Amino acid sequence: MHSIHAKNIYLEGGWQKNIRLDISDGIIQEIEYDISTESQDNTVDILIPGLCNAHSHSFQRALSGRTEFKPTSKKDNFWTWREAMYHLVEHVDASIISAIAAQAYQEMLANGYTSVVEFHYLHREQGEDESSNKLFDALLEAANLTGIRLIYTPILYQRGGFKDELLSSQQEQFHLTCEELIQHYYYAKSILTERHSLAIGVHSLRAVTNKSMQRVVDFAEEEKIPFHLHIAEQQKEVVDFYELYNARPVEWLLENFNVTENWCLVHATHLNDHELKLLAKSGAVTCLCPTTEANLGDGIFRLQDYLLQGGRLAIGSDSNISINSFEELRWLEYGQRLLKKERNIASSENLGSGQCLFNMALEGGTLASGNKKIGALKKGSYADFFSLSSDNSSLVGHQNNTLMDAIIFSNHNALIDQVMVDGKWLEPNPSTKDNFQKVMHQLFTAEVKD
Ligand SMILES: [Zn+2]
Repeated sequence: MHSIHAKNIYLEGGWQKNIRLDISDGIIQEIEYDISTESQDNTVDILIPGLCNAHSHSFQRALSGRTEFKPTSKKDNFWTWREAMYHLVEHVDASIISAIAAQAYQEMLANGYTSVVEFHYLHREQGEDESSNKLFDALLEAANLTGIRLIYTPILYQRGGFKDELLSSQQEQFHLTCEELIQHYYYAKSILTERHSLAIGVHSLRAVTNKSMQRVVDFAEEEKIPFHLHIAEQQKEVVDFYELYNARPVEWLLENFNVTENWCLVHATHLNDHELKLLAKSGAVTCLCPTTEANLGDGIFRLQDYLLQGGRLAIGSDSNISINSFEELRWLEYGQRLLKKERNIASSENLGSGQCLFNMALEGGTLASGNKKIGALKKGSYADFFSLSSDNSSLVGHQNNTLMDAIIFSNHNALIDQVMVDGKWLEPNPSTKDNFQKVMHQLFTAEVKD
């Protein structure tokens, strides 16, 4: 058992001053209120809970900053970016994946996330015929090296498009049968320690048949784990889907499946009024990834209308073009302000926009992870949090009514002093950066470079 005394802490329900947390087995066992510090306490200034990064493809971190130019005589968009991503896929193996993921996870821990849902569809190394578990092993190694809490989410990817198109040679690296996916899930379950957990999902409606999707949905229900999928990210997908089904993807999904709060719909960028209402009513979490959605030119989610309907949201770093939970929340609000030409879209009940979005992302992260111990700081939750200093120039002079908004909107410099996951303060592992540097030189001075 060890204790932490915080002068100011963001507990479930809001800010509280002078709190002691008693921690053992990685869990907050007791919270003592309005109490002064004692000699055995580890004293900190400000404590805030870590967010769950509800959607990440960690290997894509290697492409960050490398796809920001327009190919000659071609319009650049999501689909051309996907070609670059597929090109990377051909050149990564387990050791490369591990090095890239470790760098991404370390950056998550430095920027507001203490857990990550790794939405993982890359199941085979290039040229590997048999499916294996080694790319999952590589991700787990990265999570254990850095200390982040992993929600491993194996993903089914079986076809090249809505009309059962064949997989391209690169997409073959994603392919598993339903039975292989389930076998792989059980392998992961057998070796994950208590600090980590599992979800499952399908890549998108275009990547699986309805029958395969039903099989994975049923399995998620049996295992009582969250079900994740990408949906309606690109307008083209909505148009293509409509041509075949005479229905829009989210509308069709909600009519044909029992979508509940155990579902995490990633993006859901293109919604009409009917879909928006049904989605909010379903209780499912929509995972929004504003920096990736902006980077890939996806479009802007209808946040204002969704919030008015009581919809739930989580945030994710997705392609990991940049990794910062505060930035995701800031851009979620800023996208709306630019679109609506108004201010403070997410603000409600006398709470600032930043604080409202932070609260929603905490709750949505709990649901998307499927683990009630992840999220808000309370008795029985994981000791997963960050310490900050009130004398940081971004925060100085703020009282609790504006402090969370300063954290989200006023990032003039690095805010986070220390991070604790599972009851232990973490230190950045020096080998992570070295390994990442080696791998990046290897990838971009030889194979991937055209
Ligand atoms: Zn994604």
